[in-house]
Amino acid sequence: MQEILKVENLKITFKTQLGKITPVDGVSFRLFEGETLGIVGESGCGKTITAFSIIKLLPKNAILGDETKISFRGRDIATLEKSDLHKIRGKSISMVFQEPMTSLNPLYTIGWQISEVYKLHEGLNDEEAMERSVEMLRLVGIPEPAKRTKEFPHQLSGGMRQRVMIAMALACRPALLIADEPTTALDVTIQAQVLELMNDLKNKLDTATIIITHDLGVIAEMCDRVLVMYAGQIVESADVFRIFDNPLHPYTRGLIHSIPRIEVEKRDQKKLSVITGYVPHPSKFPSGCRFEPRCPMAMEKCRKETPQIYRPEEGHTVRCWLAEGSEIDG
Ligand code: SF4
Repeated sequence: MQEILKVENLKITFKTQLGKITPVDGVSFRLFEGETLGIVGESGCGKTITAFSIIKLLPKNAILGDETKISFRGRDIATLEKSDLHKIRGKSISMVFQEPMTSLNPLYTIGWQISEVYKLHEGLNDEEAMERSVEMLRLVGIPEPAKRTKEFPHQLSGGMRQRVMIAMALACRPALLIADEPTTALDVTIQAQVLELMNDLKNKLDTATIIITHDLGVIAEMCDRVLVMYAGQIVESADVFRIFDNPLHPYTRGLIHSIPRIEVEKRDQKKLSVITGYVPHPSKFPSGCRFEPRCPMAMEKCRKETPQIYRPEEGHTVRCWLAEGSEIDG
């Protein structure tokens, strides 16, 4: 499989009134053609900022580290000028956001908004662009697509609006789709339909996808490989089966054990496990292991020394002293 994206040593620093903070530090990963990569973690762990950095949607006060490199199809995009980035964004790399109402323009019809993507990136005229928009709406399962093109976002349900967002994002058949919590704002039944649609389109269009989520159910449903993030770092990475079958990092285990499982909870009358405490603010990341204050397995060493990244088996890495003795990654 060909490599689509390579992120090396991603470090994002913000200048704030309280001084500099670094919510993402030393994140590296690769993504291959047609692959779906999940980035999972609680709110505030740095997953959304990581995704935004790929398409340069970071706020103005953000600074990338000197050693950070983001290559898309072999081309360094971390240093691209805005005009060059516009050519890539929406055409080769697209994004679906959590809340479609904040991304769709309430003043324009659905058809107009999708057509703009075709006019901008493929130079189509009005008529051609509208034809393609109808086709795309049909592909994402919108009934009576020609009629819908004349409607405004507020006339559609939440699930329909998310389908429109997906249609816009995939209009130019991008090589990479980034979906930030794509189903969080939807009802559970609609969530399942949107996930099924994304899976279906991914297979049809062979688009590599990054899914940002706090929901391990979404990860299990959609992803080939998973990065678990905590306090601005990747703490574990592996294929989706290993993450669920053999989680090695105490944080990953905590996330998995906090998923409600009706049959187990009922049988054992167990309370749901929780990870106590909160993700620390970037200005207060602990020295040593950043998960140490919440870790049930913490040792003396964890408080003082930052754990290395170990590779206990091929394709599986973990940032934890418990894996000491395994091969060091990198
Ligand atoms: Fe827990 Fe120590 Fe591993 Fe950190 S390094 S996750 S504190 S066991």
